[in-house]
Amino acid sequence: MSTVRAFLSLGSNLGDRQHYLREAISQLSHDVTVLGISRLYETAPVGGVVQDDFLNVVIEIDTELSPLALLDRCQKAEVDANRVRLVRFGPRTLDVDILLYGDSAIDEERLTVPHPRMFERKFVLAPLADLAPELVPEELLLAAEGDVVAIGML
Ligand code: AMP
Repeated sequence: MSTVRAFLSLGSNLGDRQHYLREAISQLSHDVTVLGISRLYETAPVGGVVQDDFLNVVIEIDTELSPLALLDRCQKAEVDANRVRLVRFGPRTLDVDILLYGDSAIDEERLTVPHPRMFERKFVLAPLADLAPELVPEELLLAAEGDVVAIGML
């Protein structure tokens, strides 16, 4: 069966943020091959809601899963992390988004790929550029919204 190269964005702004990111990658690695993990970024929240800073990474994977099956795995990782949600309806311990799935364009009820807001968000583009600079034009990275600082590796 052929595999597809895909990129996932992972973020956490609640509790032991690094732990949630590591756990999610570990869980996902049962179902996909993790080819690379970007640097770890601390990033200011965008979108106006007052909440704590995020930690973000992007991972590059090889997968035999269909796009929707991959989305299911991402959402399972979110649900598992959010079982220990600290504040009801508050910021989430884990957010996992599919950024790119090969060169597919997907527009379904549950899934839009490329992720519709990825090219406006520095917390996505900066870590993506670590792994695949050819996918992130310099001018898009400069124009993207948000403050991000690389703080090392996960
Ligand atoms: P959020 O966790 O707030 O980013 O949004 C999750 C919702 O976005 C879910 O209902 C997904 O079905 C939907 N969705 C659409 N496109 C994507 C994508 N590329 N990656 C992850 N979730 C997506």
